[in-house]
Amino acid sequence: MFPHNMVGSPGFGPVDNSKSSHACWKTMEFKSISLHEGFWSKRINVNREVSLHYAFEMLEKSGNFDNLRIAAGLIKGNYRGYVFLDSDVYKWLEAVAWEVGREPNKELLAKADQSIALIAAAQRPDGYINSYVQTREFPEPWMDLDNGHELYCAGHLFQAAIAFQRALGDDRLLNIACCFADHIGSIFGPDKRHGTCGHPEVEMALVELYRLTNEPRYLDLAKFFIDQRGQNTMKGHRSYGSEYHQDHVPVRQVAEAAGHAVRQLYLASGVTDLYLETGETALFDAMRRLSRDIIETKLYITGGLGSRFDGEAFGDPYELPSDQCYCETCAAIASFMWNWRMLLISGEGHYADLMERALYNNILASPALDGQHYFYINPLMLRDAKYLRLSTELLSNQRSTPSLAGGSVDDDVIPNQRPEWHDCACCPPNVMRLFSSFAHYLATWDVGGIQIHQFTSAEIGCDLIPGQHIKLNLVTDYPWHGQVRLQVLETGNSPWTLSLRVPEWSQQTVLSINGNIVSDLSIEKGYLVLERTWQAGDIVDLELGMAPVLVASNPRIDATRNCLAIQRGPIIYCLEDRDQEINGRLLDVEIDKNHPLFPRWEGDLLDGVMVIDAEGQFVDNGEWRGHLYQPVTFSFQAIPRPTHLVAIPYYVWGNRGIRGMRVWIPEKSL
Ligand SMILES: [Zn+2]
Repeated sequence: MFPHNMVGSPGFGPVDNSKSSHACWKTMEFKSISLHEGFWSKRINVNREVSLHYAFEMLEKSGNFDNLRIAAGLIKGNYRGYVFLDSDVYKWLEAVAWEVGREPNKELLAKADQSIALIAAAQRPDGYINSYVQTREFPEPWMDLDNGHELYCAGHLFQAAIAFQRALGDDRLLNIACCFADHIGSIFGPDKRHGTCGHPEVEMALVELYRLTNEPRYLDLAKFFIDQRGQNTMKGHRSYGSEYHQDHVPVRQVAEAAGHAVRQLYLASGVTDLYLETGETALFDAMRRLSRDIIETKLYITGGLGSRFDGEAFGDPYELPSDQCYCETCAAIASFMWNWRMLLISGEGHYADLMERALYNNILASPALDGQHYFYINPLMLRDAKYLRLSTELLSNQRSTPSLAGGSVDDDVIPNQRPEWHDCACCPPNVMRLFSSFAHYLATWDVGGIQIHQFTSAEIGCDLIPGQHIKLNLVTDYPWHGQVRLQVLETGNSPWTLSLRVPEWSQQTVLSINGNIVSDLSIEKGYLVLERTWQAGDIVDLELGMAPVLVASNPRIDATRNCLAIQRGPIIYCLEDRDQEINGRLLDVEIDKNHPLFPRWEGDLLDGVMVIDAEGQFVDNGEWRGHLYQPVTFSFQAIPRPTHLVAIPYYVWGNRGIRGMRVWIPEKSL
């Protein structure tokens, strides 16, 4: 039985800001947005039919469930894996909850039931649960706050519990979660033990637990943990100091993104959540500074974040190498989650643009089309797979592909696919929970109307005021075509405002209502604002200019200076070696910016993609062979060989073997 106050707002998605005092826009109830057939339903069906089942098998195989069984005393054995393996179970459970809440699925629910029973069995009578600690010879909790991940795992448990309650009205995990949260609250606090987790996560989970249960002590605990940061007492990691653990600066004084990217962005999500509830200006000002620093100096064109393998960390400003970047899938997901919260506060479309950039590029690139293989790291260039790292682990046991940059390599060491799973498997279940809750992020509302942020075919319903139910049908072939049609299915008698995001990339935006072009478009903060007394049957046609373009980078990013990237709509493109006229020459390729780019639909390729045809050349730098450096007075006689170039969406690279790939293409020099 649920022991707390009346549950706040059942039926919502991952974020329920319906009672948050400092939100510009409110999230909708989870089931008020349902997806139709289209680009996203295809991906989400793979998630449902394949990924969630295979993840269950992987959690068994990797020891995650056994660790809990050992903690529960059901079996004997030794803990396996990293200290945070429980969190993968929780993230998977969260994904299952959203998915089954969207559409019933007995098989998935049965698997979830087994897992929940196991978690319940492993929980100590005092509420504590962490299988790593509980299976130690001396099971003493909270001994290593810097690296123990106990609160991090707790945060993921809370989020899974919230998902089960909201999506299914199922309180089993919520009882476990609240018991644990209360136990944590009995240990930590202003008048109790000080300190916080080396890996932020619990902050946003506690705020959400507060939103669900109406228990202010969970919000207080979130604030306490946030306030604990910046004391410079955490040891750091390798060459990184306390910024690795986000302990280098108090959150209200943050001026730049630093340290471990996922930690930074999860913390930002928690801080932004806290602002949504408290309205403390210093918190939001800090988040604005952080966002500006990222947008101006640390963001990859794919929406990826984190330049360095070492510390999985942000680099210096403009340090954005294409080949040795990190761009962890979880960092892009964390960015997506954080920008959602920034959008809810500000009503500024550029935050939704950032979500879209991360979504269609870095995040979507993580899962293979088969739904059973995942990138952890998402480089923008692959020279040679011999020393490729696709994960925190070196993968030497995968099957092989030919060399990509010319020459031969040892077939035994080259992977031909994304890894099946990871020792540190944070990314795959993170993708799964995002995909299964994807509908949550499409639209919001306020008393004046409805805002559409992401475009995919869906039905959207909402009660603006009691008695005024709005229902919209959205039809689009996005992201392949820029036409978006909205039909008003139900409306009331009062006027209301429909706001449609105009993506930053749209070169030309045309809007018509019932076939009549609207000439004086009103765009506010990145949204087309249409206020009128709508009638059932009204049709709004939005056409976004989606011609392919070449994008240049800030010259300070020396890694991509004089290079161009191809973008069409929200999709960033790449050249994959196998599609080019000559294989193994991606290091010699150049693109002709004066030649137009042509999109071409390939329905049988990679689940159906729009490829881009371009023109360029391979430059024979034969005189350089055998030399890395020559005096500038040396006479170069490079010979260009014109070639046709075929670019595919970055997110599908590596689905036909892991081969040479580049997003940034040198500009034609001769
Ligand atoms: Zn990850």
